[in-house]
Amino acid sequence: MKQGRRSFIKTAGTFGLALPLAGTSFFKRQADQPLGIAVIGLGSYAKNQIGVALENSPEWKLVGIVTGTASKIPEWKKRFPSIKDENVFNYENFDNIVNAKDIDVVYICLPNGLHPEFTIRAAKAGKHVICEKPMANTVEEAEQMLNACNKAGVKLAIGYRCHFEPFNQEVMRYGKEKTFGKINFMQTNFGFKIGDPTQWRLKKKMAGGGPLMDVGIYCVQAARYTLGMEPISVTAQFGPVTDPTRFAEVEESVSWQLTFPEGITVNGFSSYKTNVETMFASCDKGNFEMSPAWSYGPLKGKTPNGEMKLPIVHHQTFQMNGMAPYFRSKDPLPDHFSGVEGLKDMKILMAIYKAAKTGKSVKL
Ligand code: NDP
Repeated sequence: MKQGRRSFIKTAGTFGLALPLAGTSFFKRQADQPLGIAVIGLGSYAKNQIGVALENSPEWKLVGIVTGTASKIPEWKKRFPSIKDENVFNYENFDNIVNAKDIDVVYICLPNGLHPEFTIRAAKAGKHVICEKPMANTVEEAEQMLNACNKAGVKLAIGYRCHFEPFNQEVMRYGKEKTFGKINFMQTNFGFKIGDPTQWRLKKKMAGGGPLMDVGIYCVQAARYTLGMEPISVTAQFGPVTDPTRFAEVEESVSWQLTFPEGITVNGFSSYKTNVETMFASCDKGNFEMSPAWSYGPLKGKTPNGEMKLPIVHHQTFQMNGMAPYFRSKDPLPDHFSGVEGLKDMKILMAIYKAAKTGKSVKL
């Protein structure tokens, strides 16, 4: 299966230099053998999306799990008989994963606040990492994760599934080839009505922030990969707090305006109070748009030529199939789905918060 890719992002300086760890089982894995993977945190995303991808993809074999909930183990072992007893870990004994020679990569599906700790512990155990978005809660943590992976000579990917998904790949192409002329303005919105008021997504320590960290990151990503440019400054505003109990620790909604080179503006909006998921690009020769743009779909889009007709795929399966060859290779991961990309997003997300808090434009 051919997966499009695009290295629009400048090289990453020291963070791009992930060197393979000599002697890991990883590079001894035969080209015709699936890569061994362990999933950490058996919640909704692991169960309903990454689990499905691992069932579908011949490139990967789920051989381990890491969970704090022992009652989930039988269900996972029944679903994946490839999970070995000795590869079932909890958060306390996780470091023993160093002895699991059949685990090449760990996939971190934990709440955001736990991504740094488990990335760093996995790197110390010589395991490559795929970490869910957002990479971390702060820029400093993201840098620590990259440094730990570079030091250990392991790769760090972020679960940026849209880079492997046909509709999003197509808008990257529109931007790159200027299919509808120069893009002058984009509007990107992603929000949903959040449920359970006790969930980790509403706790600052676990989530890092509110909807911006959770789904607003898709808007920031879409702006960057559609334009193939990096923003130079941002202004932002928090929305009203209509539910002070639920939103005591994180924002309820936030709007932002990113300025890109060539006078391009991208407005963004993210919310836990309303359902919205659209991207719109105004170009010299017409407009293109997608809605839904980033959720599991089916995605839909329109251009001046009519409806976008592209395959509807399971994003995470495409992501895992698409990432596998890069984990088999000794070369560093391409920046666009690596920790380098994650760090760039973290800097922009933090700048949006700073702009919203101070009411001032923040340079990037
Ligand atoms: P869930 O709450 O459904 O699952 C998180 C799991 O982490 C829990 O089930 C639990 O697993 C484990 N965990 C360990 N410590 C804690 C803790 N203190 N509080 C809560 N859970 C804990 O979250 P999601 O699966 O929705 O999200 C996980 C990650 O995936 C997040 O970073 C999120 O941003 C990302 N995500 C990415 C998506 C994408 O499209 N790329 C979509 C959805 C989420 P256990 O019981 O096994 O210990």
